Amino acid sequence: MLTRSSSRPYGAWATFLRNFNRKRKTIGFRLAAWFSLVFILSSLAVFALAYFLLSVSLQQQDRQIIESELKLLASRYETHGLQAVVEEINARHRGSLFVRVAGPHNQTLLQHVPLEWNEFDFKQLETTRPGDALQWTYLVADEEEIFEDPDRLEILSSTLPDGSLVQVGKSTEARKDILDYFLRIFAVVMIAVLVIGFTGGALLASRSLRPLRDLAAVLRSIRKTGKMDERAPIPPTADELEELARVFNALLETVESLVTRMRGALDDIAHDLRTPLTRLRGAAEMALHSDPDVNTYKEALADCLEESEQVLTMLNTLADISEAEAGAMRLEPQEIDLPALIRSVVGVYQHVAEEKDITLHTEMPHQLRLRADPRRLRQVVANLLDNAAKYTPQGGRIEIEVRPEQENVLLSVRDTGMGIEPGELSRIWDRLYRGEAGRSQRGLGLGLSLVRAVVLAHKGSVEVRSQLQQGSRFVVSLPLNTAN
Ligand code: ADP
Repeated sequence: MLTRSSSRPYGAWATFLRNFNRKRKTIGFRLAAWFSLVFILSSLAVFALAYFLLSVSLQQQDRQIIESELKLLASRYETHGLQAVVEEINARHRGSLFVRVAGPHNQTLLQHVPLEWNEFDFKQLETTRPGDALQWTYLVADEEEIFEDPDRLEILSSTLPDGSLVQVGKSTEARKDILDYFLRIFAVVMIAVLVIGFTGGALLASRSLRPLRDLAAVLRSIRKTGKMDERAPIPPTADELEELARVFNALLETVESLVTRMRGALDDIAHDLRTPLTRLRGAAEMALHSDPDVNTYKEALADCLEESEQVLTMLNTLADISEAEAGAMRLEPQEIDLPALIRSVVGVYQHVAEEKDITLHTEMPHQLRLRADPRRLRQVVANLLDNAAKYTPQGGRIEIEVRPEQENVLLSVRDTGMGIEPGELSRIWDRLYRGEAGRSQRGLGLGLSLVRAVVLAHKGSVEVRSQLQQGSRFVVSLPLNTAN
């Protein structure tokens, strides 16, 4: 029982300390602390200046009073004697001023001390005598409190021509009271403003940094659950944080679509690899279990070779794309005849076209020489032709045209196929992107990204125009100035 009740306050204290330590590390807390520190320092500087100016002006005011009273009393004493000074003091209630009249040997003739100023040792005035006609002297009070700044009596002395002395003085006590009051008011106002300022500042900073906490929370949750579909709320602040949240969400969008495409591509690759490999194994198994016959073996080996060729082509394409994406596509340029290269590729696709009853039409000059990497360029033509044949239905038409235009050579592949959705036009060049409508066709979404990478490596460009159900036209432009 005892342990439990005594551990509770300690637990609460520990929780408070933990929370405080956590808060202490937040930007909001640090900003508020820094602002408060700057505010305190600048307020202290302003206060010190105000305090100094106030004390100087109070001192000047006191001295003016003392000087004018001294003048008046000295002239009264000179013209009408000591009695006139007494009358003057009584008549004008100068209870707040010290007045002393002394003879030529500094012996006190008259001394008026306001009641509350008994703490000063006035005897000292008889032992020291000011030399000049007008001179300031000070008496320091015997204070009981050691640490307190003692009151002072500021005295102005006027020596008259006959050697006698008139002295008027005033204690600094009233001045100190005003300054103390000023100090206390400042301290109270300062503490109040600081508490309000710090709390308000910390709250404001914490509020305005909430979007950052939201971003961190989204990242944490994605990391924990692996789900990429979460998005950060967009703060309606029209500032950098709103911009950051938008960019952050856009980035998540990109990453999510890339991850989705990668997953799809991995499935497709696995599927596409499995088919030829299964066929390869089938051919090998059949040959193994059949009667030993050279012809059967030769046929099986030819099948195996064909299937492994397909696997290899696929893996090579993947490697090519990676190379191109890394910006390190190595070209082996040489002088080539473009129409001849195209004719050889068209020859390969002739039978595919025939199978689908597609007319393949070419329109190109007999010869057109340029400097390019023939292997890569063959990949470009093959991919464009392959797509055209894949996405064009039975009885369609494919036209291949080559013509020089100014300093370029244009290669156009036009089909009468299914066309491309306008919304997909900009994305078909992305690695692993596959259009919705053509999903039923074989493919990895790598062909066009390879086409673009090769064309860019040749310092050319490629663009597409397409109309749904009407067909598409891909135009590759290669610079001719590299031709010999
Ligand atoms: P895929 O392996 O899917 O053909 P590509 O990178 O070659 O990959 O093409 C990307 C996408 O562009 C295709 O999935 C398809 O939607 C679209 N596409 C490419 N060529 C054509 C074309 N000639 N006609 C219609 N759609 C095309």
